[in-house]
Amino acid sequence: RFITLEGGDGAGKTTQAELLTAWLEEHGRTVVRTREPGGTELGQRIREMVLHERGHVAPRAEALLYAADRAHHVETIVRPALARGEVVLQDRYIDSSVAYQGVARGLGADRVRSVSEWAADGLAPDLTVLLDLDVTAGRARVAAARGATFDRLESEAATFHEAVRRAFLDAAAAEPERFLVVDAGAAAEDVQRAIRAGVGPVVGI
Ligand code: C5P
Ligand code: MG
Repeated sequence: RFITLEGGDGAGKTTQAELLTAWLEEHGRTVVRTREPGGTELGQRIREMVLHERGHVAPRAEALLYAADRAHHVETIVRPALARGEVVLQDRYIDSSVAYQGVARGLGADRVRSVSEWAADGLAPDLTVLLDLDVTAGRARVAAARGATFDRLESEAATFHEAVRRAFLDAAAAEPERFLVVDAGAAAEDVQRAIRAGVGPVVGI
C-alpha cells in the first residue's frame, strides 16, 4: 500500500508520519518511511539544489528537478518496497508538485500533473492524507521549530502559501475517494487519531 502525506510547511507531516509508522509497526506492518524531494542520494542532491539555491531558479527547471527526483525515487525505492508487500509512507508526492509548481508558481496544474505522472510512471497513491493548516499557523510552527532559517520556498510570500493551501484542498475535493483531509490545527494526538482511522482500512488494520 502506498500512502502519501501532503500539506503546507509546518503542517506537522514529519511528526504525524513518525506516530503513524510506530502504530503500523506495532500492528506488524513493515513500513518504508520516505520523502520527496530527498528520498535517495540523488534526491538529496536535488533537494539541496532546489531548496538551498540562493536567488532565482527558473520555475520550469525547478519543476523538472522535482520530477527527476521523483522518477528516481519511484523506481529505486517506492516500487521495490510495494513489490515486497511493504507499506510506503511518503512525505510529499505529485500533489505537492501540482500545488507548488502548477498552481502557486503558475506553471499550470494539468501540465505539471502530466509531467509528474510521467516521471512517476503512473504510480498513484492508495491514500493521500492532507494535513490542512492555516498559513500563518504553519509559518509560526516552522519558525518555532527552526528559528528564522526559512528555506527558499518557505520564504515565499503568504499569498504563495495561501495558493498552495487552496490547491491542496481543491485536489482533495476533486478526488474525495483518494484523500483524507485532516485539520492539522488540532492537537497532535487528535490529528493522529483521525489519520489512523483513515489509514486502518487501507492497510487492513
Ligand atoms: O516538506 P519538505 O521540507 O520536505 O518540503 C520541502 C519544500 O519543497 C516544501 O516547502 C515545498 O516548498 C517544496 N516542494 C515543492 N514541490 C514539491 C515538493 C516540495 O515545491 N513537489
Ligand atoms: Mg519544509
